[in-house]
Amino acid sequence: MSTDSVAVIGSGPAGAAACLALGQLARAVLWITPPDTKEARIGESLSPSARPLLAALGLEELFTGPAHRPANALFSCWGSDHLTERSDALRLQGPGLVLDRPAFEAQLRSAALATGLERQETTLESLQAADGHWRLRLGSGQEVSAGFVIDCSGRKAVAGRHFARQHQDDQLLAAYAFLDQQDTDIEPTAATMIEAVADGWWYASLLPQRRSQARRMVVARFSDPDLQPRGLTRDRVAWQALVEDTLYIQRWIDSAGFKAGNSPKLTSAATAWLEPAAGILDGAGWAAAGDAAAAFDPLSSHGLTTALWSGQHAAAAADSFLRGDRAPVADYAHTIAKGVDQFRQERHQVYAREKRFHNQPFWRRKSG
Ligand SMILES: Cc1cc2nc3c(=O)[nH]c(=O)nc-3n(C[C@H](O)[C@H](O)[C@H](O)COP(=O)(O)OP(=O)(O)OC[C@H]3O[C@@H](n4cnc5c(N)ncnc54)[C@H](O)[C@@H]3O)c2cc1C
Repeated sequence: MSTDSVAVIGSGPAGAAACLALGQLARAVLWITPPDTKEARIGESLSPSARPLLAALGLEELFTGPAHRPANALFSCWGSDHLTERSDALRLQGPGLVLDRPAFEAQLRSAALATGLERQETTLESLQAADGHWRLRLGSGQEVSAGFVIDCSGRKAVAGRHFARQHQDDQLLAAYAFLDQQDTDIEPTAATMIEAVADGWWYASLLPQRRSQARRMVVARFSDPDLQPRGLTRDRVAWQALVEDTLYIQRWIDSAGFKAGNSPKLTSAATAWLEPAAGILDGAGWAAAGDAAAAFDPLSSHGLTTALWSGQHAAAAADSFLRGDRAPVADYAHTIAKGVDQFRQERHQVYAREKRFHNQPFWRRKSG
């Protein structure tokens, strides 16, 4: 790769969006991605604000295609014992989507690959800036160079964490499980439900049904590590007990013909960000995008939209930089920092609306 090319690290939504945007700018790209895994990923609510971002990448048909379902109904128990419904169909932009997440990522990846970029199926091991370009050492043992690096490696921020300060606001941890429908005669409501509880909050969502497969639901509990029962990932009885402690999630799971079943997996859902999210080192430019730049508490359902937006904008900043205009790199870092500030304020307001549990450690920490 030449020094006027861009190395994009990571094949999640941010990496794919960056590659697609660089393709539109006719910029040479080296895409460094670990081999695809078939592991199911959590995170399927796509906000309606993603629609114009996908349209800009030439992918608006993802919003209307059959793989995903419109997010028409959101039920929420937050701030009172009542369950209220918000209809997304009434939003000006129309409803968002509940994604078949593996299908969504595969659609993004194949569109990115169709731009004709060079792909290396490996990891980034280390990188160094010298004399206006980057030397990257890959897991394959190969060394490559690039003029700009976009770090889209998710929460690990494998490149950016070496050049910027990593902040973390909280310890939020998600315990999640995918459930298969047991009673297939039941036609469940295609909905998403959110419920606040004393130790945190839950969501459950009916996933889009794949042809000739059982209906699936994802269920997730968000809490702090010290409020999570020990050994939860091996303890289906403890998991079942937590589910049964909810007012509405358990009832919906049951009435829709699902069972809580297997014990959950854990993943970090903390709010974390890099400061700055882009910069210049020894004359070589870099930017972080997606979760590598700013990973948000999933209560916001902002993560995928931020990944698509920041992938595109980091690509534009990289292209300007390589044409000699350095200002967009600083502008990009500034916009990410502003977005993080705004998100933290909004999140505080949303958590503050739940007053029933104000004496409980989880909610006390959220109001601090
Ligand atoms: C429990 C939970 C629920 C969520 N729910 C939602 C939701 O409903 N809606 C929503 O919008 N967002 C949600 N999110 C957030 C959303 O999933 C993320 O914001 C989104 O995946 C970020 O995309 P990304 O491309 O930045 O990172 P990722 O999707 O994490 O992709 C990172 C990529 O980097 C690669 N990588 C890692 N290390 C290396 C390396 N060394 N070299 C090369 N590649 C590397 C990985 O393999 C991967 O391909 C949720 C998050 C959590 C934790």
